[in-house]
Amino acid sequence: MTPNLDFSISSPKVDHCALRAEVRAFLAQALPRGWSAGERARSWSGFDADFSRALGRAGYIGMTLPTEYGGHGRGAMERHVVVEELLAAGAPVAAHWIADRQSAQMILHNGTEEQRRTILPGIAAGEVYFCIGMSEPDSGSDLASIRMRAERLPSGGWRLNGTKLWTTYAHASHYMICLCRTGLSDERHGGMSQFLIDLALPGIEIRPVLDIAGEHHFNEVHFDGVDLPDSAVLGQEGDGWAQVLSELAFERSGPERFLSSFALFEEMARLAPPTGDAAIGRLAAHVMVLRHMSQSVAGRLEQGEKPDLHAAIVKDLGAILEQEIPERSREVVDPALADAAYTATYARLRQAAPSFSLRGGTREVLRSIISRSLGLR
Ligand SMILES: Cc1cc2nc3c(=O)[nH]c(=O)nc-3n(C[C@H](O)[C@H](O)[C@H](O)COP(=O)(O)OP(=O)(O)OC[C@H]3O[C@@H](n4cnc5c(N)ncnc54)[C@H](O)[C@@H]3O)c2cc1C
Repeated sequence: MTPNLDFSISSPKVDHCALRAEVRAFLAQALPRGWSAGERARSWSGFDADFSRALGRAGYIGMTLPTEYGGHGRGAMERHVVVEELLAAGAPVAAHWIADRQSAQMILHNGTEEQRRTILPGIAAGEVYFCIGMSEPDSGSDLASIRMRAERLPSGGWRLNGTKLWTTYAHASHYMICLCRTGLSDERHGGMSQFLIDLALPGIEIRPVLDIAGEHHFNEVHFDGVDLPDSAVLGQEGDGWAQVLSELAFERSGPERFLSSFALFEEMARLAPPTGDAAIGRLAAHVMVLRHMSQSVAGRLEQGEKPDLHAAIVKDLGAILEQEIPERSREVVDPALADAAYTATYARLRQAAPSFSLRGGTREVLRSIISRSLGLR
């Protein structure tokens, strides 16, 4: 079957301009005082629980969740508008980011009624935070090779042993959605299940891993005989691989996949001489095209589709743009004109940029997915 590569959008008409103005008014009063260029440059990795709670009170978290679970029953396109505004402002969204973007969707679609009622309202309030337990030492791109194991106990429940790696903000999260081996299946993608793990349980040790800039956001998480009740299984036992693939579609498709360097793009445009116009115009055109493509993915999600191929294309092209901005900025901005705001923004994004084509799936892995989806291999 020929894959549908149409990136046009068809979604119910919503007054997005009014919503955009509302979010901007909220941000004008809610952003921490003295919000600096260097803070903006953290993009979606800035962590501020007070800000997340304020965002939850304003109704901008859990927007697409049903109201019976504390959500707001709004559309994926409306959420897209809010997320774009938060990223453009460089708001500190990391506390609730993973929970809002993917964990809540996983619980809504695969969880039990008890899991939905217990956890989703806290996520929508901006008070319950999640981390992603997929990668392990020696299992990153090749996620199907994970070794962490959950053994079923004769008396009921499960016992977990193993290690997860690169777990963003595990040290500040309440829960992890964790992919484990549960079966004896010889199938590469069989015998895996997802668990909803309360990170306060005994036997869990979270050790920091510092990034290239010496900052602590990701971690190594050790599970040493951690006992879980049967109710901690998320979805169907043995369906972990299929579930994790749908989780990755949520993880790869949003505007954060092309706006990570946006603060530097604005700084560059502010300081660029007229000779830099062509470079700025070219980057602006790329931002607009990616924005259209990302909105199309949101429209497809809203219509219940699974736009995995489209999401992989947005993520791959978006990471190229995010990594090009620091390069072009160095060529366009005269160092003699670089002020403190520009220098702080440039320094942070220059160091962070290599990770943009690793997190959420490396460039080679995304291209492999794209070529397979297009029937090219
Ligand atoms: C900032 C950041 C945050 C992260 N947060 C999380 C998190 O919260 N939770 C989590 O579970 N993980 C997280 N990760 C991990 C991330 O998903 C992995 O780093 C990624 O999947 C790559 O795995 P790896 O580091 O083991 O590299 P490897 O898989 O060892 O890859 C090394 C290189 O080999 C290439 N390669 C591998 N296989 C192939 C192949 N078959 N064909 C061609 N080339 C190949 C890769 O593209 C890459 O260039 C995070 C990573 C970063 C950088």
